[in-house]
Amino acid sequence: MKQLQVLLVAGTHGNEINGIWLFDEWKKSSFLINTYGIKTFKVIGNPEAKKAGKRYIHHDLNRSFKEESCLSINSSNFEERRASEIVYLYGEAGENPCQIALDFHTTTASMGSCLVVYGRRDADLALASLIQNQLGLPIYLHESDQEQTGFLVESWPCGLVIEIGPIGQGLLNSKIILQTKLILETLMEQIHQVKNLKLFFPNKLIIHRHIKSIDFPRDEEGNIDGYVHPLRQSKDWQELKKNDELFCKLNGEIIRFEEDEPYIPVFINEAAYAEKNIAMSFTKRELWDFQKEWKKSLIDLIHQK
Ligand SMILES: [Zn+2]
Repeated sequence: MKQLQVLLVAGTHGNEINGIWLFDEWKKSSFLINTYGIKTFKVIGNPEAKKAGKRYIHHDLNRSFKEESCLSINSSNFEERRASEIVYLYGEAGENPCQIALDFHTTTASMGSCLVVYGRRDADLALASLIQNQLGLPIYLHESDQEQTGFLVESWPCGLVIEIGPIGQGLLNSKIILQTKLILETLMEQIHQVKNLKLFFPNKLIIHRHIKSIDFPRDEEGNIDGYVHPLRQSKDWQELKKNDELFCKLNGEIIRFEEDEPYIPVFINEAAYAEKNIAMSFTKRELWDFQKEWKKSLIDLIHQK
């Protein structure tokens, strides 16, 4: 049986520095974080962007993990090269094979902390359920978004993104660092419990399922000509009803939510998403029954069956 190994990534975006700082401190003092005896590799996702104080050098690293055949260690694009390198070093078939990848991010949106799951992979949903059960974190299920692909964790059999916030880019904050540490240790504890088959899954989990993202209002030339309405700013996770205010313009015009069904907005005015033409994303809040296949998938993965 192969040894269980977990890849821990911080700084996939170079200006999200709290996780990077925590990992650097951890390297100086190995007892800082309890990994419950599980072998981990801690990796700074985008060290070049960190040095430059930027999110990325050429292209968002967390959109660069394409199919293995599309990855190239010789690419002229730094992030494509870095994605290939990380998969080569820590991928399931890499030099230091890891079965699980945990990717720590921060957000400028007022979302608190949450887990992001890409698609509906059984093992991801099982691990997210364990963490929601322990810490009550919301789960954002990102799916059916053709514009956004190539996420790091999708290159591993199981992986979650952990978003912690709100925090400005490039700023250290004690609360964010402690949240990162708490969530990281809880993940390791729960993986350890699965390893020892001392696990307790909930019967239900609350999912915020991605529906779509919307752009800012723009003028004929494509420039942003309105901002998030003050009643919407920092109201992540709070239900939107028809005619609720979304944006306003300096001329007093208000742009309203026009959908018939209520949606839950997330990543409202996230600093990093303006370049992606995303002012906020809409989700549907759903209560899902826990599926026993999820549990089996995670147990089989951790026990290398
Ligand atoms: Zn990020």
